[in-house]
Amino acid sequence: MGKNMWNIQLFKLNFDDKEVSAVANVVAGGWLSMGEEINKFETAFGTFLGDGTYCKAVSNGTAALHMALLALDVGPGDEVIIPALTFVADVNVVNLVGARPILADATSLDDWNMSIGSLQDQITDKTKAIIVVHYAGYPINDIAKISQLCKDKGIGLIEDVAHAPGATVDGKVCGTFGDVGCFSFFSNKNLSIGEGGMVSTLDPELNKKLGYLRSHGMTTLTLDRHKGRAITYDVAQPGLNYRMDEMRAAIGLAQLDKLPAGNVRRGELTDRYRSNLEGSPVTMPFEHQPSNFTSVYHILPVLLPEKTDRVAVIGALKEKGIQSSIHYPPFWDFTAYKGQFSPNDSPVTADICSRQLTLPLFPTMSEHEVDQVCNAILEAIA
Ligand SMILES: *Cc1c(COP(=O)(O)O)cnc(C)c1O
Repeated sequence: MGKNMWNIQLFKLNFDDKEVSAVANVVAGGWLSMGEEINKFETAFGTFLGDGTYCKAVSNGTAALHMALLALDVGPGDEVIIPALTFVADVNVVNLVGARPILADATSLDDWNMSIGSLQDQITDKTKAIIVVHYAGYPINDIAKISQLCKDKGIGLIEDVAHAPGATVDGKVCGTFGDVGCFSFFSNKNLSIGEGGMVSTLDPELNKKLGYLRSHGMTTLTLDRHKGRAITYDVAQPGLNYRMDEMRAAIGLAQLDKLPAGNVRRGELTDRYRSNLEGSPVTMPFEHQPSNFTSVYHILPVLLPEKTDRVAVIGALKEKGIQSSIHYPPFWDFTAYKGQFSPNDSPVTADICSRQLTLPLFPTMSEHEVDQVCNAILEAIA
């Protein structure tokens, strides 16, 4: 099981001696949390996002989203607009801060990102924040317009960049368009740590708040006290413990080095999928990307023809040792959200969710493996 069950897994880690020695060095050094590795990782990630971006490493992407909502004072009585097509973490955190999640539909069967029209339709005087997602690593269209709209109306903008570390629009990096950018470094993301995340902001006041939220609201760090730079601490506001540890930050640094080449490789493999599946009944979204956009191709989503038995297709791929997945099951199918949302309010998302399938994609995948997957899926459809 596990390792050898699949001939072609959905995702494979791009780890080697670099990650191993990164962790070994931290363990040998004997300082395990909030030390030099965290500092280096945050600085390097800030440089990666662009000058003037503040970064704080956190325990995971959901923690990052939770902190972003708290930093923007989102709470009971507030509405937060989120895409209907996204991972459940977005809707969960909005509910857990006591606000009301409002769904905006996907744009079309080609552009699966949240539609700006649907977004505008959902804005009320209760809208406190908007969470945008760059689905599959493709920057959301109109991000500059959405950013301006939020500024004009005094609405907070949170970018969920879990799929898109390194994606750009006009050379500007995703995660820097809103008030707070939230990254995830879960095992299967473009930058893999296992568990990990990052919050980014260009606003020094928000950065300070995020720092308090990450670490009990405390005004000094253990390291400062260890080094004799501080004796005690004050608590400026209530906070959580959403810190990342040094081992993870060291892996993060090794992975950040590999990220740009990994993203490019994902793009090459996506192109191969596209040319293999061209003209077939299996369609790929985001065919028409504006030339000023750079995607980071987090996953390889396809749309099966209408009325296809998706469970049978997944089974046929599995027979050949090919793993597939669904991004995402819709919220209205979950026990927790039955009755809160209806597919009728997000018809494009409902259609996508009913026949979406995610095929394997990872930087160490070979062209031959892409061809095998394409042959298998076309056979399964036929
Ligand atoms: C992975 C993911 C998250 C959550 O990140 P975790 O690190 O797993 O908590 C949030 N949003 C999206 C879109 C994701 O893909």
